[in-house]
Amino acid sequence: MNDTVLIQNATILSPERDAPLEGSVLVEGTTIAAVGDGPASADVVIDGRGCLVVPGFVQAHVHFCQTLFRGVADDLDVMDWLREWIWPLEQAHDHASVGASAALSIAELLLGGTTTTLSMETVHHTDASFEAAERLGIRAFIGKAIMDRNEPGIEMLGEDTDAAWADVEALLERWHGAADDRLRVALSPRAPIGATDEMWRRCVAAAQDRDLVLHTHVNENRDQARLVAAGRGTRDVEALHELGALTPRLVMAHSVWLDPNERDLVRRHRPTVCHCPSANMKLASGRAPVDEYLADGVNVALGADGAPCNNRLDAFTEMRLAAIIHKPVAGPRAVPARVAFDMATMGGARAVGLADRIGSIEVGKRADLVVIERGGAHVAPIGRSDPFSQLVYAHTAADVRDVLVEGRAVVRDRTLTTGSVPAITAEAERQIDRLFVRLGRAT
Ligand SMILES: [Zn+2]
Repeated sequence: MNDTVLIQNATILSPERDAPLEGSVLVEGTTIAAVGDGPASADVVIDGRGCLVVPGFVQAHVHFCQTLFRGVADDLDVMDWLREWIWPLEQAHDHASVGASAALSIAELLLGGTTTTLSMETVHHTDASFEAAERLGIRAFIGKAIMDRNEPGIEMLGEDTDAAWADVEALLERWHGAADDRLRVALSPRAPIGATDEMWRRCVAAAQDRDLVLHTHVNENRDQARLVAAGRGTRDVEALHELGALTPRLVMAHSVWLDPNERDLVRRHRPTVCHCPSANMKLASGRAPVDEYLADGVNVALGADGAPCNNRLDAFTEMRLAAIIHKPVAGPRAVPARVAFDMATMGGARAVGLADRIGSIEVGKRADLVVIERGGAHVAPIGRSDPFSQLVYAHTAADVRDVLVEGRAVVRDRTLTTGSVPAITAEAERQIDRLFVRLGRAT
């Protein structure tokens, strides 16, 4: 751990500031100690000339365990994608393959400036994701997917309620607050319909007693939403409300098809909506009207979702799409660049209950910081441009040069310092081959 790190002569963008700030950011230990004016030297000095410094991005809906499946299940709608590929692939996972998938995810996320994630894993082997997150240095909220309802179509990953809860308890015991509180357990029933009401009640009670994040999928696909409503008698958000889950602790991925009553419930009970524009477009799910949710005062975060439905885990892609896809319907001022930046930073911080610790560059917050080079031809000229707009519309993840998590440089000069990317990708290749053998689709 460095005592002090100084990022000098940079253009600082933070969601609470109306304008860019030229200057430095001083980090002492794990914490931001000064912003703007700083000392002339420190233990480590990072030259920020020609660079933006932004808060580490927060992605509030990803699946580390699915990154190994990138590029194997494209151009399908969500139910075919799940039934034909994702559930069987997850079923074939073992500890080593989940670990390889998580390591690959985290390498990509950190190299692209994402410093905090909320990840839903598969039903088993969630320890392997925590181990990778502990080793590689990302801040992570991780939950095992809970699927104890065992209804037709999801029985291949089904589990017994008590056994599933015992797994959750073991994860809480081992990982919640680990790595100096960089790692936390999230409670992740896969969908309102994917877990039993008994399981939901246990999760809601534990979330309240132990201050945990609840994480689930809500109304992603229109046909799926109709089927759920026909089968259960209530729509997803109504079910969550009946179960007591609809609180600010809840992160609802997607939320594409909320009916007027659901929207009213969300407006009144204030869960976070995690907007996943790439996944929603690629799986042809639809457009979540987050411009309207924002107008309702709802917190909106961003997430890449899983690599097989994106196929990137890239905060820049999600910010750009979040700022672009609403305009044809709602006009050019729907989700301006500044709002997309806020979603990718403070929106995510609020989603995971860390608004007082991360999501902006302010004295006293944790030093989760990203240095972005402005020198590329795809960004020039910068002399007259609005850096917030350039961040959202022009920059790409490849412009990320340095990344700090809690003051620790996990990326320096575009190189991951906490692991070997060639070794991580080689292990991913080995593990996906082995997984396809287990799946019986090796040829
Ligand atoms: Zn998802």
